[in-house]
Amino acid sequence: MTRPEFLHACCEVLGAMHVLTAPEDMAPYLTDWRGRFTGSAAAVLRPADTLQVAAVVALCAEAKVPLVPQGGNTGLVLGSVPDLAGNAVVLSLKRMNRIRAIDLVNNTITVEAGSILEEVQNAASKADRLFPLSLAAEGSCTIGGNLATNAGGTAVLRYGSMRDLCLGLEVVTADGKVWDGLRGLRKDNTGYDLRNLFIGAEGTLGIITAAVLKLFPQPKAQVTALAGLNTPQDALRLLAMAQATCAAGLTGFELMSACSVALVARHFPQMRTGFQDAHAQYVLLEISDSESEAHATAMLEAVVEEAMEGAVLCDAVVASSIAQSRALWSLREHITLAQAAEGKHVKHDVSVPISSIAEFIGQTDALLQQAFPGCRMVTFGHLGDGNLHYNVSAPEAMADEAFIQHQEAINLIVHDSAVRFGGSISAEHGLGMLKRDEIRRYKSDVEMELMTAIKKALDPHQLMNPGKVL
Ligand SMILES: Cc1cc2nc3c(=O)[nH]c(=O)nc-3n(C[C@H](O)[C@H](O)[C@H](O)COP(=O)(O)OP(=O)(O)OC[C@H]3O[C@@H](n4cnc5c(N)ncnc54)[C@H](O)[C@@H]3O)c2cc1C
Repeated sequence: MTRPEFLHACCEVLGAMHVLTAPEDMAPYLTDWRGRFTGSAAAVLRPADTLQVAAVVALCAEAKVPLVPQGGNTGLVLGSVPDLAGNAVVLSLKRMNRIRAIDLVNNTITVEAGSILEEVQNAASKADRLFPLSLAAEGSCTIGGNLATNAGGTAVLRYGSMRDLCLGLEVVTADGKVWDGLRGLRKDNTGYDLRNLFIGAEGTLGIITAAVLKLFPQPKAQVTALAGLNTPQDALRLLAMAQATCAAGLTGFELMSACSVALVARHFPQMRTGFQDAHAQYVLLEISDSESEAHATAMLEAVVEEAMEGAVLCDAVVASSIAQSRALWSLREHITLAQAAEGKHVKHDVSVPISSIAEFIGQTDALLQQAFPGCRMVTFGHLGDGNLHYNVSAPEAMADEAFIQHQEAINLIVHDSAVRFGGSISAEHGLGMLKRDEIRRYKSDVEMELMTAIKKALDPHQLMNPGKVL
């Protein structure tokens, strides 16, 4: 099949207005979220339902056209944009945004892959339920992208990541067949776990078209506190205390280094910790409670009191209103923006066992200071999940551009260190094109062989998001 014949056949399936080929129409689909890379494509295809996805994937298989699935295009590792070859099509799932069903007894919601995360949260909320996945891109990212990257976010500590929130999938396979695995079962031991193969595969094994997701009761109250501490070790002690007192009620435990908070204060002067003195580390704690706000506040105050008495904390404030709670979260959410405003920097998204996190920070900070004296450690993230956004900014006296030249050396120090502690070089964001080559340094030959065998079995012609992950 020639390219014009292929495109003509796509138009017959989707309607010509959903086969974009003009450069200005395709442009928004070709550049990644951070604007670092612009790929090239033969067309952007916009199917409206699963049968249309199956039909165009079958056409791609017949014509040997590679395809790149795309949701909200908010991914951070260049997974959702095509490479420079120009022979691939982008398959945008965004028109597939229907809520198919809500089952309030089974506590599940069945949604199409192009549904925006925030809309799914709202649909759950209207039904007096909680869909707990929450991340800063929730107004743009889609459930299909969340699943394909096994997204985490701010509530993993209590509810797990996307893999833990999904009970069933509908997937179009690389040869254009539909696998209906939309089971709302919490128990199903009937052979290999296909669902979990597609989750986190970044679109390299098949196209996710719909999913059955778990819902939870809405908490009656959410209360937040901010604590100032001396060391990451103290933050771990505070975590143990909060878990002992609040158990599953602890839904957020975020670490922020002094440098992260200082950057927010510099670029967003209206945002303050409210503390008189600066501290070396800060922790944001959130408790969700099924009883009442008074009960949640009492629990959080008990944790703070115990930590003060044990000299684990230097200072703390428990939010007394929703507005104050939002202001505290806002500090955390503005770190990325403040760091971007400050200039170019080197980002990492690592995880290590929670027990090793303080030692990891101590050793890695020391290695970086030795190599790049004065570099600024903008370390923050989901301490309760062992996941840190371990970002490094240039020393005040060094130009960003000169610092960025050392990106590879910095990555090597940070990633080698994470792996030495039994960690991962990508906790949340996946591999995409960005970390595809680097991962070979850290995975064993056996692991790479197993991954390659799975890819060959499910996508023998290497058409599903080629050049990503593997
Ligand atoms: C401001 C911001 C904050 C973020 N915060 C977090 C965070 O806290 N935690 C976290 O885990 N991530 C975070 N991310 C990254 C995160 O991966 C994405 O926001 C989101 O999960 C991706 O969804 P998307 O619809 O935009 O997917 P896209 O970016 O479109 O795609 C991501 C990957 O999934 C594949 N894909 C997309 N849809 C499908 C489908 N239907 N079937 C198969 N493959 C598909 C793509 O090919 C690509 O490989 C953040 C990103 C931004 C910009």
